[in-house]
Amino acid sequence: MDREIEVECPSCSPTSKVLHEVLSNRGKCIIRCAKCSTTRQIERGRDATSVKLRVVVSYHDTSYLRSFEVDPAEVLQLGDEIVAENETAEAVRITAIEFPDGSRHAQAPAARIETLWAQKIDRVIVKIAVHRGRTTRSYDVPFEGDREFVIGDQEQHGEINRIKIKKGPVLERAGQAAKAKDIQRIYVKTKKRGRSV
Ligand SMILES: [Zn+2]
Repeated sequence: MDREIEVECPSCSPTSKVLHEVLSNRGKCIIRCAKCSTTRQIERGRDATSVKLRVVVSYHDTSYLRSFEVDPAEVLQLGDEIVAENETAEAVRITAIEFPDGSRHAQAPAARIETLWAQKIDRVIVKIAVHRGRTTRSYDVPFEGDREFVIGDQEQHGEINRIKIKKGPVLERAGQAAKAKDIQRIYVKTKKRGRSV
């Protein structure tokens, strides 16, 4: 067990949260205070052991607030996909993890986190550059995040011939595929046929 949570300790720190080691998490949750070593059992119920994190979701040019309820011991890291909620649920990908003091971390147990920054991924904007002869036009098209694009496939505007991955390589080989949520830009070449589209 290497899980840790931060909760109040009735023995040594009744009003502020201190680190506890999670000794057992099966059925009953047994924790030990890292400061005074008092061992006790806490409720696994929603109220006692879940935390609600602020999630700032960005989508295209806007951002809005959602929340994410999670076990305080759960370790979250950059790139994790979670479901952010208010009235609706949406899949988002964590892009930054912020503590109450404003510092940012690559990973942390939920109990230590105040705000998650995330990108909406169930519907993402894919930038499509269409080359037609010497001109290039750019389109922003929304797609489901899991929508797959394959080099060589025909799309609405023509044939996909390159896919630039976010913070990643450019795919150019026929048959290589990527999901919309991972794509920075798709390059499409229109075939010169008798009739223009
Ligand atoms: Zn204690």
